[in-house]
Amino acid sequence: MSKNVFRMVDNTILKIYNNFPKLNKNLYTYLSKPQNEITVNFTVEIDRKLQNFTGYRIQHNNIMGPYKGGLRYHPNVEVNEVEALSKWMTYKNSLQDIPFGGAKGGLRIDPHQYNNVELKKISEKLTENIVNYIGPEKDIPAPDVGTNAEIMDCMTQKYLDITNTDNYGVFTGKSPNYGGSEFRKEATGTGVAVCIKEWAELKNIELKGKTYILQGLGNVGYYTAKKLKEYGLILIGIGNASGYKYHKEGYDIENIQEFIDKNDEDLCHYPIGKTIDKLGFFSINCDIVIPAALELQICEEEAKNIQAKLIVEAANGPIDEKGDEILNERNIEILPDILTNSGGVLCSYYEWLQNCNNVYYERYLLNQKLEDKFKEKVKQIFDLMEEENIQTMREACYYYSLKRLENEYIKRGYYLPN
Ligand code: NAD
Repeated sequence: MSKNVFRMVDNTILKIYNNFPKLNKNLYTYLSKPQNEITVNFTVEIDRKLQNFTGYRIQHNNIMGPYKGGLRYHPNVEVNEVEALSKWMTYKNSLQDIPFGGAKGGLRIDPHQYNNVELKKISEKLTENIVNYIGPEKDIPAPDVGTNAEIMDCMTQKYLDITNTDNYGVFTGKSPNYGGSEFRKEATGTGVAVCIKEWAELKNIELKGKTYILQGLGNVGYYTAKKLKEYGLILIGIGNASGYKYHKEGYDIENIQEFIDKNDEDLCHYPIGKTIDKLGFFSINCDIVIPAALELQICEEEAKNIQAKLIVEAANGPIDEKGDEILNERNIEILPDILTNSGGVLCSYYEWLQNCNNVYYERYLLNQKLEDKFKEKVKQIFDLMEEENIQTMREACYYYSLKRLENEYIKRGYYLPN
């Protein structure tokens, strides 16, 4: 699975270079490989037994600023997957004009197999092993699948203790006690929803009453649904790692959340709606499909059966290459991941700025900044599509991002023949 993701990012970039000769293809030589690939092996005592762990930190590119990207705890973490995710961060940050480069980290563990004390111990040991490679001006990790604010807090504390420094900006996505903001946990989902709203406004589409289905009911999925409820959209299909459900009268996201919190994320016994399989879920007749779980969820079969006119990539890389091709042929619009889920890193950037300057902003200001930035960016992408005759939003987002990287390489005097 991860091998596909690995190829997918580079294939996207190569396709962009083939389709848009105005971009300097030689830049790809700089971008094709990560600058640093750090692997650490370490041992932790868990329940009086010794266990070995392998962690990765892939630092793809820092031409725009310090490396930046999440830290994933998942049993399927592989170095290739982490590399792909690190590349997406470079393109995402460049697209949102954030002065950060791209990185990603991962630990191949199932976090559900450990209690909080054990997770803290493992995370602290991981920090010890990567301490020389990270820092507020060097590389700033954040939460991703399987990690959260508590893990960022303990890693921050460990880093500050070892280095005898006091800048909390070494990690983002922390709790307010550690210089994080309350808003960070809802930022990615809020950004996804705001992106849909701006897209609809520019297209003159009324969102109220539109139906959608949501795969993934974690951090991103939950806050996306919460915001979409405010805009009057109706959630008629839900799914997570435990299964899928359909209810054409609509679900209440808070009620679902309460249920899965109490039942270890198990949707199977949720009493509302009909239980369906994954393909049945993606075939639901609705206006919008939102994958907010993992990579490679919409492949050939799903893409052929999707009924909606819009897909919003809240997760990273949820559509595989074949799926993307089919959806484009079927004229189904896609709001691409590097734009749609960039609210998290945008808010992380605000958190880092606050930590570095020791100035803190209230939640409503951060929310406003995020909404303004998305409004401006979606409009900019629409304008670019028109100016350069670009057919899809994915191509336009990569075009913008690659152009900024190209300009930076030129500005800094790197060799880049035409
Ligand atoms: P999370 O761990 O909070 O939630 C993940 C959800 O996906 C859960 O509901 C889980 O049950 C579901 N899931 C896992 N495996 C599944 C499977 N095989 N089939 C169906 N559902 C499955 O993670 P998250 O933070 O919400 O991240 C979701 C996606 O968004 C990931 O692709 C992540 O890289 C991306 N993302 C997250 C952030 C962030 O701020 N958290 C920012 C940008 C991008």
